[in-house]
Amino acid sequence: MSKLVYAFGRGRAAGHGRMKDLLGGKGANLAEMTRLGIPVPPGFTISTRACNRFFERGDRMPAELAAEVRAALARLERQAGKRFGDRADPLLVSVRSGAKFSMPGMMDTILNLGLNDQSVAGLARTSGDPRFAYDSYRRFIQMFGAVVLGVDKERFHDRLEALKRRRRAKLDTELTAADLAALCDTFQREVRRATRRPFPQDPTRQLWDAIGAVFGSWNSPRARTYRRQYGIAEELGTAVNVQCMVFGNLGQDCATGVAFTRNPATGENVLYGEYLPNAQGEDVVAGIRTPLPISCRQAPAEAAHSLERRMPAAYRELQRIRRKLERHFRDMQDVEFTVERGKLYMLQTRTGKRTGLAALHIAFDLHRERAIDAREVVLRIEPETISQLLAPEFDPASVERARREGRVLGRGLPAGPGAAAGGVVFTAERARELADGGRNVILVRTETSPEDIGGMLAAVGIVTSRGGMTSHAAVVARGMGKPCVVGAERLVVDERGGTVEAGGRRLREGEELSIDGSTGELLVGALEPHPSEILRAVGANAGRARRGPTYRRFVQLMRLADRYRRLAVRANADTPHDAGVARAFGAVGIGLCRTEHMFFAADRIAAVRRLILADDDAQRARALAKLLPMQRRDFVGIFTAMDGLPVTIRLLDPPLHEFLPTRPEQFRSLAREMGLPVREVEARARQLHELNPMLGHRGCRLGITFPAIYEMQVRAILEAAVACRRRGLRVHPEVMIPLIGTAEEYRALDRRIRAIAAEIRGRNGRPVAYSVGTMIEIPRACLVAGAIAAEAEFFSFGTNDLTQMAYGFSRDDAAKFLPQYLEQRLLPADPFRTLDRTGVGQLIQRCVADGRQARRGLKIGVCGEHGGDAASVLFFHEVGVDYVSCSPYRVPVARLAAAQAALRGAADGHGASV
Ligand code: PEP
Ligand code: MG
Repeated sequence: MSKLVYAFGRGRAAGHGRMKDLLGGKGANLAEMTRLGIPVPPGFTISTRACNRFFERGDRMPAELAAEVRAALARLERQAGKRFGDRADPLLVSVRSGAKFSMPGMMDTILNLGLNDQSVAGLARTSGDPRFAYDSYRRFIQMFGAVVLGVDKERFHDRLEALKRRRRAKLDTELTAADLAALCDTFQREVRRATRRPFPQDPTRQLWDAIGAVFGSWNSPRARTYRRQYGIAEELGTAVNVQCMVFGNLGQDCATGVAFTRNPATGENVLYGEYLPNAQGEDVVAGIRTPLPISCRQAPAEAAHSLERRMPAAYRELQRIRRKLERHFRDMQDVEFTVERGKLYMLQTRTGKRTGLAALHIAFDLHRERAIDAREVVLRIEPETISQLLAPEFDPASVERARREGRVLGRGLPAGPGAAAGGVVFTAERARELADGGRNVILVRTETSPEDIGGMLAAVGIVTSRGGMTSHAAVVARGMGKPCVVGAERLVVDERGGTVEAGGRRLREGEELSIDGSTGELLVGALEPHPSEILRAVGANAGRARRGPTYRRFVQLMRLADRYRRLAVRANADTPHDAGVARAFGAVGIGLCRTEHMFFAADRIAAVRRLILADDDAQRARALAKLLPMQRRDFVGIFTAMDGLPVTIRLLDPPLHEFLPTRPEQFRSLAREMGLPVREVEARARQLHELNPMLGHRGCRLGITFPAIYEMQVRAILEAAVACRRRGLRVHPEVMIPLIGTAEEYRALDRRIRAIAAEIRGRNGRPVAYSVGTMIEIPRACLVAGAIAAEAEFFSFGTNDLTQMAYGFSRDDAAKFLPQYLEQRLLPADPFRTLDRTGVGQLIQRCVADGRQARRGLKIGVCGEHGGDAASVLFFHEVGVDYVSCSPYRVPVARLAAAQAALRGAADGHGASV
């Protein structure tokens, strides 16, 4: 039978850092730190293999585990010189979960396990500190009660707060030994009331129940939500770490803390973190007391309270370990530590989560320090976090005005960068409800807990009145890329009453609040967000002066990405402005220009409606004649912005009824404008009404039934190209037909397009080079790709429609059932966000192969939303398409994702061409 338990301690470990699958991230790194000679309390890790066997046996412990745990415990007793369960001088342990990927706040921790009514007295005697002993015991009852026995943790919290009020104590550290002993009794009564059983006194039973609870917490709803959100596999399971306790609550020369080896918000190369003297475990992240800074530099105003000043020896040791860890792991670490009577112990290290800004600076700094090479720089930065660098900020002038008007509600720590404004809500449920109704909401809480994940996802920003940079709210919000302000101490948050109050101002649910996660400022009212440093720098008229170090490194990263990637990245843009942004972000062409967006513009919707409502060809021709010069102007603008680069223009796609009004008063005004009776306008709209517009009269079907519309568009495109060429611009138009399902459809439309082109050439002499191709967005098109490729010069996958039609999931209605599909794990991810490799991917693969078989070197792109999704980009790289096209602001994400795909050694397909 394979081994289930791995011991570590005294410089030796059975496991090591590369065993994360088996030992979980925490267990593997405890072993690794032990091997590095870093002071780690001894312990053992029960592997994920044991967890999976536990599940296989219907939540029962694997038989062989007992003996291994007994042996490991005996070893621990020898090392500690104490016996587990001893009444006089008990060995106490912590029991913590630790999965392969860190899941902040998701799994549970129990400290001081092994205490009972007898041994607490022993601990009081041996430590000489009864206050400490009863504090440890009440914490144990509290954690074990909540995590293992399922008692509502609010009950314990309310009891503690009530006692503090009676004693007029502001902090828990002001309670006496007698208070805490009484609290232990109160807590035990709470347990008995909730479970109808006494609190378990047998340490061995405590241990096994705790191990079972950690295994079980892998399947808690909140852990599942987290895994789904971050795509963590269900089968991994969690390990359990059992470790000798060291105590941060033994007096004022003790402490507990968390730190990042560099600043996780900015990337600055300084030790950054928080600690609490005379405290234990979760206190720092739970927001019980406001933690203190580790270094003076980090918060000069609070320097006197910093660990650096108060415990200089421990601080120096922490600095030494920080350097050692960074040298070893070659990355920024997030560590937990305890100081017991002046001696520092490390309890955890893992790769630290960071903002996009910090990721960028840390990667380049490590490169400069020669810790990582250029490829590693590219691989180190999560493509998704790059979009945070583009996150909006508030316009400084409007912030200044709000300050002058006395609208500052408070200030907290800048925990997640970016600016957001919305109506305040105080519970996760309300956040979800209001967000579902289309409202921007700011979730305001005293502190957040894992139960709030759904609400945090729904909110545009998060505020807490307690907690530090490493609190649950801060860590989770940074991971989600949400603006977040924590520890805004002045705020009095009444979650039940639904208000937040500070400095004489009170906001009720729904009232507007603006939060700046980069400065920590909270302002009453809705401020307009404003483009970030990078957005300003890439803006059309940005001067050199505004280009700071972040922008320079962003550009450097993009250049590096371009060095490695094979996939080209284009953008979806319909206006010269968007085309300009796309180009500034490095798009090498436009992969999709949706011409219908031009039809909606205020100055032309009337002409479009005249076209749609026309009774005969003559009326239609008049309306088209009005539209032609407008479309031509549009294309001239886009060709100008994209001088020298290809522009794919898709002919009209949506069903015509989308251009007609829906409300009676709109019909009345349209009828007035057109000099037609209202009835007639309404009758025409009824005629155009479809039961299934997504499968109806749209795309190339419009081109077949109303050829004049496509002819006008092609004329506008090619005449614009001729006009631009006359101005010396290099124009590469690509005319794209939407929704092709048969080669016959394609052939009919292609013939007409080429006829118009010939006519324009006849008038203008020298031909403009153009190509004609098709969207591939109907499953049938994938199956007859060879026949279509015989005619079409390029393919572009419309993965939005292709997903819709492959699954039969309406793009407009899927929100009604997709959440449940994800909840019940019937789908691994939202297929409209991340491409379904198994089904839709198979259609794409077949289409690429058959298309290129029929036409060698057929150019193939992707222009659905998936073109900007990192996981999908990896797939497109693997199947050998030539380019992806995404929204202009996603271009940097796609460039980086494409480079990572290439560096990860995914199968290389086709040569790069755009
Ligand atoms: C698509 O279907 O993927 C596509 C890009 O077209 P649209 O979203 O306009 O239907
Ligand atoms: Mg489409």
